[in-house]
Amino acid sequence: MKYEDDYYDPEDSPVAVTFQQSDEQNDNVLRPKYLEDFQGQAKIKENLQVFINAARARGEALDHTFLVGPPGLGKTTLAAIIANEMHSEIRMTSAPALDKPKDLAGILTNVTENSIFFIDEIHRLKPALEEMLYIAMEDYEIDWVIGQGPSARTMRVPLPKFTLIGATTKAGSVAMPLSERFGITCHLEYYNPEELRDIIMRSSKLLDTTIDNDAALMLAGCSRGTPRIANRLLKRLRDFAFDLRSDTISTKIVRHGLERMGIDPNGLERMDRQILRTIIEFYNGGPVGADTLSISVGEAVETIEDYYEPYLIQKGYLKRTKSGRCVTQKAYELLNIPSRGINNVDQGILF
Ligand code: ADP
Repeated sequence: MKYEDDYYDPEDSPVAVTFQQSDEQNDNVLRPKYLEDFQGQAKIKENLQVFINAARARGEALDHTFLVGPPGLGKTTLAAIIANEMHSEIRMTSAPALDKPKDLAGILTNVTENSIFFIDEIHRLKPALEEMLYIAMEDYEIDWVIGQGPSARTMRVPLPKFTLIGATTKAGSVAMPLSERFGITCHLEYYNPEELRDIIMRSSKLLDTTIDNDAALMLAGCSRGTPRIANRLLKRLRDFAFDLRSDTISTKIVRHGLERMGIDPNGLERMDRQILRTIIEFYNGGPVGADTLSISVGEAVETIEDYYEPYLIQKGYLKRTKSGRCVTQKAYELLNIPSRGINNVDQGILF
């Protein structure tokens, strides 16, 4: 697909786009298509605009770009925006979908000059594929083995100049030789409530629903700094407004809806509270390892590490130490449990 006057729409993509949340499947309408519609992340936007303008003026592919940050902050959206701004074709996949070297070689040998190849969850790429990618990124070639056994020989296949955009929630798990080959690195941060309010106001227009400014700010405060969560909650509150025969989502509807969904005014969900309660009641406040905690609360380790923990840590309810997770005094206060003295203060924070 070539994009000249038109923009890239993920729905038109010939390659499957995989989202972590099923609620996202009909969410394409909410995805900003150009940098000017992308709220927040001001520094990233300004720098990207400079790099894109320069690459376009030179008629070259943008340098390989590494997008790092927790789920739902806009990495996939940014990749599609870069493609639109560059007027480039984009192919999207995620590392777990690439099983064998031939899967990756098949895509790489089909990329076109100056186009974009997006790999989500790049920290999950298999080592053999990573090595193929090093050469593809640096020399725009791949080594391809023809035949088997003693008669096997390696052929170097040239590739067009393309841009790899790799996204990850775990920059620390990406091998150094891979991360070093990205010329541009963007660390996405959690959004502040005002930025999220603007995203909510924009989304409500696109969803053809109205929300009061105060209600949008209240919802923003409960959205864990994450646009994906803000959009998902907005859709549910639209349902509650419909149920209550209200044309507008007011602060009253936000309060009512969030309470019905088990979300407290800090944006904590039932599972957040269950994690804290389990650490207190079963492990005396911690430390407890991620695997043990995962079994105790019945939630996948990755979900605890990527979704629940960062917010609990950011809000000061949890800390990570060398020997595991420990709750803080604030967690005891939240759950109204007497602390009996916290014994995990000497563990040395892990960051
Ligand atoms: P990630 O790839 O980091 O998990 P996505 O790019 O899939 O996150 O973003 C999740 C949703 O949040 C998208 O559907 C998009 O509508 C919305 N979104 C993300 N970032 C922004 C932003 N800066 N402005 C407006 N909407 C955003």
